[in-house]
Amino acid sequence: MSETKIRDEIAKLAKSIYERGLTFGSSGNISVRLDDGWLMTPTGSSMGEIDPARISKLDKDGNHVSGDKPTKETFLHLAMYDQRANAGAVVHLHSTHSVAVSCMADVDPKNVLPPITAYYVMKIGTLPLIPYFPPGDLDLAKAVREMASDHHAVLLANHGPVVAGKSLRDAVYATEELEETARLFLMLKDLKTRYLTDEQVRALQDKFPS
Ligand SMILES: [Zn+2]
Repeated sequence: MSETKIRDEIAKLAKSIYERGLTFGSSGNISVRLDDGWLMTPTGSSMGEIDPARISKLDKDGNHVSGDKPTKETFLHLAMYDQRANAGAVVHLHSTHSVAVSCMADVDPKNVLPPITAYYVMKIGTLPLIPYFPPGDLDLAKAVREMASDHHAVLLANHGPVVAGKSLRDAVYATEELEETARLFLMLKDLKTRYLTDEQVRALQDKFPS
């Protein structure tokens, strides 16, 4: 896909995410890996109004080379790419239900959400919780980097998810699956629930390795 087409695709999917209430204000950011660097949504921009021509471009060393200034959360994206050679795109949102789950006490930090549906197991699998760090703290990038080699999706405590995918669509769809599963989890939390069994989860992982 040409860089122009990728820029259009980022703007189109960002608008779709925004219009469905998965992001708001100037929160959320998307990046795509190119042969010569990365495209990153600009700082302070609304996902609903991304101008493809003004998307930030970074070179292979992460230096800003063209377009508007990149998101202040660029380091989260680069930490994920650094550990995942096959990651083609990364999505980070402050989507409400995922953030709600990221604030809950007593979740298992090794795997925050239970296996509610087969699609969740196939698109996310396990979801570790990264401890809270204030915005811009580089220790957050370090913590993400430590988890990213084993996990394409992580949940930042009191903040939101960071999800990598082979393609931009894969990353967006997995982030949406995570958000909907977080919503289901909150709907079900006071109800007696039948989750998938360990055996059912293993069978899915064998049939659809991520
Ligand atoms: Zn954020």
